[in-house]
Parts: sequence; structure tokens; C-alpha cells
Amino acid sequence: MKNSKLVSLSILAPCYNEEKNINEFYDRINNTVKKLSLQNYEIIFIDDGSEDETWSIIKEKKLIDKHVKGIKLQKNFGHQNAIFAGLKNSKGTYTTVIDTDLQDPPELIEKLYNKIKTNNANIISCQRSTRKDSFFKKITASIFYYMFNLLSKTKIKKQVSDFKIFDRKVLSFLNNLEESDPFLRGLIVWPGFKEDIIVFNRDKRHKGRSGWSISKMFDFSLNAFFGFSNLPMRLSFIICFLLSLFFLIFALYALISYFSGNIVRGWTSIFLIIVLFNIFNFFILGLISEYTGRIYLEIKKRPRYVIEETLPD
Ligand code: UDP
Ligand code: MG
Repeated sequence: MKNSKLVSLSILAPCYNEEKNINEFYDRINNTVKKLSLQNYEIIFIDDGSEDETWSIIKEKKLIDKHVKGIKLQKNFGHQNAIFAGLKNSKGTYTTVIDTDLQDPPELIEKLYNKIKTNNANIISCQRSTRKDSFFKKITASIFYYMFNLLSKTKIKKQVSDFKIFDRKVLSFLNNLEESDPFLRGLIVWPGFKEDIIVFNRDKRHKGRSGWSISKMFDFSLNAFFGFSNLPMRLSFIICFLLSLFFLIFALYALISYFSGNIVRGWTSIFLIIVLFNIFNFFILGLISEYTGRIYLEIKKRPRYVIEETLPD
């Protein structure tokens, strides 16, 4: 992409059934970008297979505002995939991702933009200091952050959502990823880009219902865990190791019992054979998991390294 085609800021807004929120979202975004006196910017709405009037409202906005762009996905691919569809089309020197339901205050974009321009960070993320969500949402989110950081070597900051701004280096890294089921929050910090934080209060959803069903949340968490942790694939080896310890203790017990004559005939051999074969089974399972896991990592085609800087030639 030629630099002349770049705009100062791209605002990516994934929408799924947001007909009741888009108008206010657009107005508040518009007021915010005006304050920034940008040379050029774009607001990219990604309609993630909405079943309501979301797309026709986006088309109306496009008619009155040349900064508006729209991408309509064929069906509901999910929040993360919608964001990635937007990223591929971003021409911004800086790109920001924001929810359309007004839980992420659009006014904060001013602060995000000014901060990333004056700061040498590649990413500025928003961290929720309070969130006006249901008890269920809060508790599942806390468990998710805890479990993720426990299992994964890539650590994500607590209560940091997808509401963030980043530079073109981060954008091009994200656009070069080929893995399916991308988990933005993990992927964006995986290369070790410089990240800074802005703390904010997360509002209630303005109107409409959350597009995240329980099964979508479950799917999202599994993608995050399996995509960033080797622990599940090592489970067989761990069980194998624990069984071996168990076997050693009980083998000792079985042999002592055998030599003290205090035993039903045949028990020792059956017991030892069962445990031994189980260890063997789990060992082979472990080997298969390890290979399958490596194939899984391989086919995701994640780059092996990311260059921080190159010297001019
Ligand atoms: N969203 C989407 N696809 C989906 C679900 C949600 O594009 O399958 C959008 C939604 O319109 C909103 C953002 O992603 O702009 C966050 O979703 P939501 O508010 O439903 O999630 P919650 O705040 O409940 O986690
Ligand atoms: Mg929401």
C-alpha cells in the first residue's frame, strides 16, 4: 500500500445487530474526530452478519459522510473475525478498535490518539477500572483472565479489552497472521510490542442485547487457551508421570505384601500389569498429543519472529 493512500486514523467498529446504537455511536465518534483536527480519517463499520437494520443505517451514513466505509460479512463470523476483516482494510497510520454498543466511550479516542502520537508505545490499550456488566459477565471475565495467564506464557493485562489504538507496525503484524480463530488480545502482545495503558470506566451497553452468547464465550475462551498454551497437549505426559509415581509406591507395597505372604494369590501380578500398561498407554497418548500439538502450531503459520527495527541501508 502506498503511503499517499494512508489516512491519519482508522476507526474500526464491529457491529452485530446494533441498529439502536449506531446513530448515537456515529454522532459521538464524529464529535470526537472533529476535536482532533485530523487531515483524513476513516470510520470502518464491519457488519458481522446482522439480522436487523444495521447495514442499511451504515449505508445511510456512507451517503452523508465520505469518511464512512462499510464491510458487510456474509454471516455472523464472530467479533474477533469481524475485527480482523476491518484490519485488512485499515489505511490508518493509527488504527483503533471500538465496540459499537457505546460500552467503550468514543470520546476516549481523543486521549488514545494524542497519547500514541506523543508516546513511543506501539499500542495503547484501555483497561476497565469498573465495569457495569452483569455479575455473571464479571465473574466469568475474571476467571478467564486468571486462567489465561496461568496457562499461557503470553501474559495479558487484567481487564484490558479489545478497545485500543495501535500503529502500522502492529497492524501489519496482525494482517500477516494466517491462523484461524484469532484471539486479538493475546496475539497483539505476543511479539512484545510496547504497550501502554489508559484506565477507564466501562459503561452499560447503551441499547440492545449482547451479541455474545454463552457458547460464543466458551468458544472464545477455548480458542484463547488452546491457541496460547501447550499445557492441554501435555496432559497425557503429566498423567503418565503422576501414574508412574503412584506405581512406584504401590509396587513397593505390593512386593512387600507378596514377600510377607499376606496376599491373595495372583493379585500382585494383575495389579502391577494393569498399572504398568496404563502408564504405557498414557505415554503413547502423550507422544501422539505432542506430535498433533506441534502440527497444530505449525499449520497456524504464526511467524517465528517479529523484527523490532531494521537499520536503514
Ligand atoms: N459483535 C460482533 N459480532 C458478534 C458479537 C458482537 O461484531 O458475533 C460486536 C458488537 O456489535 C459490539 C462488540 O462486538 O460492537 C462487542 O460485543 P457485545 O457488546 O455484544 O459484547 P459484550 O460487551 O457483551 O462482551
Ligand atoms: Mg458490549
